[in-house]
Amino acid sequence: MNKTIAILAGDGIGPEVMQEALKVLDCVAEKFGHIFNYHHALIGGAAWDVHGNHFPDETKQVCESSDAILLGSVGGPPEKQMDEKWNGCEIASVLCLRKHFDFNINLRPSKVYPSLSKLCFLRSDIAKQGLDILTVRELSRGIYFGEHKTEKIKGQIIAHDVMEYDEKTIEAIANTAFKAAQSRSQKVTSVDKANVLECSKLWREVVTRVAMNYPNCMLEHMLIDNCAAQLVRQPYSFDVIVTSNMFGDILSDEIAVLAGSIGMSPSASLNSSGFGMYEPSGGSAPDIAEKGIANPIAQILSAAMMLKYSFEMHTEYNAIVAAIEKVLEEGARTADIGNANFISTTKMGKLIVQKI
Ligand code: NAD
Repeated sequence: MNKTIAILAGDGIGPEVMQEALKVLDCVAEKFGHIFNYHHALIGGAAWDVHGNHFPDETKQVCESSDAILLGSVGGPPEKQMDEKWNGCEIASVLCLRKHFDFNINLRPSKVYPSLSKLCFLRSDIAKQGLDILTVRELSRGIYFGEHKTEKIKGQIIAHDVMEYDEKTIEAIANTAFKAAQSRSQKVTSVDKANVLECSKLWREVVTRVAMNYPNCMLEHMLIDNCAAQLVRQPYSFDVIVTSNMFGDILSDEIAVLAGSIGMSPSASLNSSGFGMYEPSGGSAPDIAEKGIANPIAQILSAAMMLKYSFEMHTEYNAIVAAIEKVLEEGARTADIGNANFISTTKMGKLIVQKI
């Protein structure tokens, strides 16, 4: 296959970890006979330095003319957030990018690798049983996108945030979850608050209807409060979780933190036509930027997700994941997941390439 990829490395550790992801993609291209054309463009503070704008038109055009977007991360150090360069950087770049391409589905896989089970924050007998969860979060509707209003009525200030869901939106996200479950352990947990919310009642009804098209998959419904509890009691009992925007926002962070380091956590955002953007779940980590110690695995796994979800390259995806697992099994550790004998960002990238 011949694919064009928009490469937006961004700020902080972005360029360092992106470099390793590109080495992995080069290796996959060579081994499996593909051509990946990289179109580099600036975003965030890096774009500000050149264009005085966090998301310039040139970058938008590069993304529009590509088959997928591979993003690093953007943003400056906490103490400089009010500087002109960094003020509102993430909103003006990444959030605008998400809005521009109407990304309505967010996928976040989280895994406790057996060789890293000590990093899991849970009791060791629970951690040992593993955790491998794909969170499928609706990204474009729900309470974040309804009307927000604060008013004074009879001397009392009242705030309103309106939550709204329609059948079509729920159908789309449910189909994504069931399709993903088919290539995993075929279990979908739909999370809602159907004992209270009208939106959740509709959510449950539509997800149940969609499930009938996937007879080989098992569907369970779970209330959000129970799900938050079960995730720490028995995370190994979950496979694919599908949920609305706000519940997904909260649960995906809970699940990512259970797995250990944010440096291992990739994500994908897709729109209804299947176009996707892939990025690590963490930020630009200014505290460790330019030290050569960032973990490149989240960025490499983001590139792997791009191969799987945008290009249908399942064997290539599996090859990258297997290489990462092997390298971890053999004891390679970056500082965030290791001890005093940690290896550099480039060394971790190199070892993964060798295993592929
Ligand atoms: P962060 O995720 O950048 O860092 C949190 C902690 O995790 C830090 O200690 C950092 O060193 C560590 N960390 C993150 N990625 C790592 C990796 N690959 N390897 C090893 N350690 C890693 O979050 P923050 O400090 O709250 O934010 C820093 C900047 O990133 C801010 O400007 C924020 O706005 C921005 N941000 C951007 C995005 C994005 O680009 N999508 C997302 C979140 C935060």
